[in-house]
Amino acid sequence: MLDRPLFNVSWILGRFCNYKCSYCWPYARTDNPDHQTLEVYKATVDEIKRQARANGFNQFHWSFSGGEPTAYKNLLDLTKHLDDGVSTPYQTVHMTTNLSPSLNWWRNWHNATCLLQRRSITASYHAEFAKEQEFGDKCLQLIHDLVHVTINQVMVPEHFFETLERCERFRKRGINVTLKPQSNDTATAVVDGYTPEMIKVMQDDFEQQEGFQIRLTMVLKIILLTKQNVLIHLGLISLPIGLVIVGIRVL
Ligand code: SF4
Repeated sequence: MLDRPLFNVSWILGRFCNYKCSYCWPYARTDNPDHQTLEVYKATVDEIKRQARANGFNQFHWSFSGGEPTAYKNLLDLTKHLDDGVSTPYQTVHMTTNLSPSLNWWRNWHNATCLLQRRSITASYHAEFAKEQEFGDKCLQLIHDLVHVTINQVMVPEHFFETLERCERFRKRGINVTLKPQSNDTATAVVDGYTPEMIKVMQDDFEQQEGFQIRLTMVLKIILLTKQNVLIHLGLISLPIGLVIVGIRVL
């Protein structure tokens, strides 16, 4: 994966989330469903591929996040649409999720993505809503289905050590866990309240995780918030929004 000419798409499907975590950033979630139609999303996938191929890229990494991406009712159909057979020799999919759908839903996601070359999930554990046993069971089911799973754990200072114990229990079940400091409302700084011991725990964990860093050839960030509010940003080269969004405008 490191040396492939990979076109990397980081896609915020919407801000709608079925959870309401007390530490969530104000801009990161909404109670109002804000997803586009499946036709718009499919057209966006097709247009991204068309333009990437025109620029010499025909291998793709798709990374979906939100809000909560699984709350989009057509996510499985959108995910299936990524697979266009031999036209694309290499595709991978990643999703950052609170893992709230049922085990059965995750089996369907597995079926929808099983022909892609690599699947990975960052499973964010939110203690105010998730149940430890069930959450771990879903992680293990995905791992059994050859999905790369990492639990992402925000270490809220007030619950630091009980959270750490739960992370150790997940690790004992064979699930990879990364610890993240809580950031402030604007995501510009880490919140107050960490002791030197807590900071050392997170630093040691971070150093262990550095080996997972991936160098990617090209990064496309795509945010579709509302039909009028579309932001496109290319990491290495800038393209006018219209070039990428032609499919959406037509619809
Ligand atoms: S699951 Fe994530 S997006 Fe949803 S409320 Fe919690 S922190 Fe925010």
